[in-house]
Amino acid sequence: MGAAYCIPEIFVGPDDPWLDQSDVIDELSRYEAACEKTAADLRALHQKVSSQVGPDEAAIFRAHEQILRDPAFSGKIRRSISQQHMTAQAALQRLLDEYTQIFRRTKDEYLKERLADLRDVIVRLSGHLSPALKDDMLSDSGPLILVADEILPSQVITLGDRTVAGIVTQRGGTTSHAAILARSRGIPAVSGVRGILRQVANGTLLVVDGREGHVLVNPNSEVESAYRKLQREFVYLKDALAENRDQPARSADGHDVELLANINNVADARAAVAMGATGVGLFRTEYLFLTHRDVPDEDEQYEAYREIIEASPGHRVTIRTLDLGGDKTIPYLGHDREANPFMGWRSIRLSFEHPGFFATQIRAALRAAADAKGSNGDVRLMFPMITTLEEMRRVRGMVRRAYRQLQEKGVPCAPVPIGLMLEVPAAAVAIDSLLEVVDFVSIGSNDLVQYLMAADRDNPKVSHLCQPLSPPVLRVLTNVIRACRLAGKPVTLCGEMAGQPRAFVLLFGMGLRSFSMSPALVPTIKELLSHLSIERAAEIHRHALQLKTTGRVSRYLAECLHDLAPGLEMFDVT
Ligand code: PEP
Ligand code: MG
Repeated sequence: MGAAYCIPEIFVGPDDPWLDQSDVIDELSRYEAACEKTAADLRALHQKVSSQVGPDEAAIFRAHEQILRDPAFSGKIRRSISQQHMTAQAALQRLLDEYTQIFRRTKDEYLKERLADLRDVIVRLSGHLSPALKDDMLSDSGPLILVADEILPSQVITLGDRTVAGIVTQRGGTTSHAAILARSRGIPAVSGVRGILRQVANGTLLVVDGREGHVLVNPNSEVESAYRKLQREFVYLKDALAENRDQPARSADGHDVELLANINNVADARAAVAMGATGVGLFRTEYLFLTHRDVPDEDEQYEAYREIIEASPGHRVTIRTLDLGGDKTIPYLGHDREANPFMGWRSIRLSFEHPGFFATQIRAALRAAADAKGSNGDVRLMFPMITTLEEMRRVRGMVRRAYRQLQEKGVPCAPVPIGLMLEVPAAAVAIDSLLEVVDFVSIGSNDLVQYLMAADRDNPKVSHLCQPLSPPVLRVLTNVIRACRLAGKPVTLCGEMAGQPRAFVLLFGMGLRSFSMSPALVPTIKELLSHLSIERAAEIHRHALQLKTTGRVSRYLAECLHDLAPGLEMFDVT
């Protein structure tokens, strides 16, 4: 519960958009200074991306500098400040709105690209005018609920430990990156709430019920006090559960299970320790790139991985190589707009297209692995969105070469187990042949479900289809887990369903013994496990496989959960 804080596309903040006559000169020079800083950023980016990735990829930053220098662009902003007495931020927002209106109806991909470039330049400029989320409203008031069209990866990262009590977005789904990030911090989030920005203003009281997926605007006093009570119970239960952090993750009949954490940065790694995870099952390295001011080179990556490994439970980390594209893009890779970004040039496909850049990441990971070995840790490397056997062979070849290069140069490095992220249906079908060339498998159910069901994980209109508990998904998971076990290859599941109580019961029944989830969910799952035996879980799984619809599976599992651990229903997201 908290006061709404609406985030427009660029951070204009709640300040007055108009200037006093006496402030115009100062505002113009503030704008000029921001232009200079932005130009310097763009030149540095051009230079670094040119040497780290390639001159073609870097060209985008020259184009951005041209936009910035274009007299038509800057002239408009200067006129808005000097003649209409607008703040620079407000003038930028207005310019962006104007162009968005003009381009709105165009189907021309080239023009859409130009709008995206213009937006990039404006957002960068605006960052120099006022740092993101640093206004009074954020520092002075109580808990805030962020309300936005969508939240960019870099924005969620900057929330840090602020008192963000909830997040509501107009776009996105339960497994889009903003939701995943919010979950890792234990922040309730509801996505796909169309039109919410039109209904609330800064300061409006909101209730975000992340469990039911409801957002209540200006609740009456009875509703408010009912939610306050629920909130107290929830916090009490959550804190009580977190006390199990030093207990083993053990089933009711004494079988140990591995509960790992999904992390994006060092803060998450620390949360993983605090919540009692025994390692990191998924480190999403793209966040390092998404939040880095330019492109991190090999040494910077090595340092970042080392720091993460150092902060992680048991120094055990499974590093996933860059998984960009889809809803996560950086301007120097995969910038072209595609009709089907999730099925297009993303993830490992993009990495293969930039072999030098990709090899840099592999080398940095192998170097960090050597340090982890020194401190009794364990590093594994896994590759996202593998579709074919050829891709996996190619990856192995690249890791071998990177290792040889480092050894020849006398740079300390260590060999690592190499794994496949199973998230493409083709790989699930061909799992037997892929198992011959991998050391382990990690099931990325977020993507696997969207591809199996042909339902975009970020599109709220098809979220009724993008369901991990749907019967076809359960069959595929059952087969993949069985195949891995028969081949004696370790298998983990690192999609969001690993931390959903209903789904966990089922996965345990399928024979899965290693799970990776948002750190905040580990205590709940550990508690649930202590109420569950292998026999009971297997029985639940057998029965669930007979059910023909997602609704039936979901209801059946809710009943099972109610019988097994009624106290945990509060953590069961429907
Ligand atoms: C997945 O697809 O399940 C996964 C864990 O990876 P991401 O959510 O980063 O795509
Ligand atoms: Mg994925």
